[in-house]
Amino acid sequence: MFDKVLVANRGEIAIRIMRACRDLEVKSVAVYSDADKASLYTNYADEKYPLGNPSPQQSYLNIEKIIDIAVDSKADAIHPGYGFLAENPEFGKECEKNGITLIGPSGDVINKMGDKITSKQIMKKAGVPVIEGTEKGVSDIDTATKIAEDIGYPVIVKASAGGGGIGMRTVYEEDELIRAIESTQSVAKTNFGDSTVFIEKYLEKPRHIEFQVLADEEGNVIHLADRECSIQRRHQKLLEEAPSPIMTDELREEMGESTVKAAEYIGYTSAGTIEYLYDNGNYYFLEMNTRVQVEHPITEMVTNVDIVKEQIKVASGKELSYSQNDITVKGHAIECRINAEDPFAEFAPNPGKITAYRSPGGPGIRLDSGVYANYTIPPFYDSMISKLITYGNNRNEAILRMKRALGEYIVLGVKTTIPFHKAIIRNPNFLSGDLNTHFIDDNKNKIYEEMEVVIEEDLEYVNRLKSTFMPAKKIAAISTAVGSYLNEAKKKQPK
Ligand code: ADP
Repeated sequence: MFDKVLVANRGEIAIRIMRACRDLEVKSVAVYSDADKASLYTNYADEKYPLGNPSPQQSYLNIEKIIDIAVDSKADAIHPGYGFLAENPEFGKECEKNGITLIGPSGDVINKMGDKITSKQIMKKAGVPVIEGTEKGVSDIDTATKIAEDIGYPVIVKASAGGGGIGMRTVYEEDELIRAIESTQSVAKTNFGDSTVFIEKYLEKPRHIEFQVLADEEGNVIHLADRECSIQRRHQKLLEEAPSPIMTDELREEMGESTVKAAEYIGYTSAGTIEYLYDNGNYYFLEMNTRVQVEHPITEMVTNVDIVKEQIKVASGKELSYSQNDITVKGHAIECRINAEDPFAEFAPNPGKITAYRSPGGPGIRLDSGVYANYTIPPFYDSMISKLITYGNNRNEAILRMKRALGEYIVLGVKTTIPFHKAIIRNPNFLSGDLNTHFIDDNKNKIYEEMEVVIEEDLEYVNRLKSTFMPAKKIAAISTAVGSYLNEAKKKQPK
């Protein structure tokens, strides 16, 4: 096992990884930008080293600086978390050159799976169903028009190097095709430095269902079953659950087998996820994420496997602690991504100081948080501040516990997605498990109506409990702030 692991990330995921290190009795090293000096993870780690300038390029994406720190601090491995350098093959090469283990799959696999066209081609060869579409990049409009006609509208134009929901455009008719291709090419070039785009069939109301993979260096590959991630805004996940409400033993077995087959075919090692779109009884490979995912805790809750610990163990050369037969799905788990965003202003990021903070607790609650009271959320990075996860013996119990936990969770000073989540988990379509990737758009009015009720309740709750979590002199100011948010929110409600 490693002696020391450097965590090349920040926020909640940095703490999550450091917790796994602590459980394995491995020392952890934090790297932090000037904006993260006072962050929880920075001070949680056994050692911390500055990265300087807060700009991501100069801090968490700065390969040279991070490798230098790893060498100086004598870390034997680096965990990249998700985002930043997690799927950067260049980083893997630099680690190797310096005799440092990168906790993740090989650079070759990252390369292949990082490209949507290549990964689809490989999966097709492996016998995994893929969405109908072009097998190489398209640039000339005649070919594109012919392809789109063959597939049948609607189609989706996608950047091959795309990620994070960026570089995708749905096209309903031929007239829009040229513009969609040109704009996606330009977005792709700006964001990913590669303007290659391709076309595939646009599935109108699919569910996003993904499977967690774990694999070691000995060639053992297992899957940890499914997660439903259909609740998205701007193609980004907001609330996830495990298992999927539509999962049956037969479907899990089939999709699980396909997942293991895919991972074996590419010689995968470490933790990863195969994402599928599920439509009308069929499932199609969407992409593979060659890293630990934000939503991994819900799988940990229902399988009782510590995914990050396994990831670190296999990177150190150990065999997986589990075989497929050891894996069973028990109960139900839900995760709400708590973002410092204003749900009333198109989810615009809302960084700033958290003036009052109170975490939920009690049976079935897990909070993976990167923040605390009086912490100032910097404006430079992702707006996710914590993940609230609940577990229940069944879906209904997990939902009721989420309702309780969201109710107990107080974050004041910045706007968050908490009221939005509260409205989702009361939504009749959510309760009946009637989900697809358009859930938020389709239920928008109902969600916003419900949010108004929710915010009234919040205000009442904060008033009732305020003396237990904040100094008396702050109370008046906070009540005014919450009151004005409520008024503002009411005004902004979409008509
Ligand atoms: P990214 O890598 O940017 O996250 P993905 O390929 O994983 O992009 O797709 C993200 C989301 O976009 C999916 O969960 C789904 O909601 C939507 N999407 C992608 N491809 C299609 C498609 N062919 N049909 C319908 N929706 C799609």
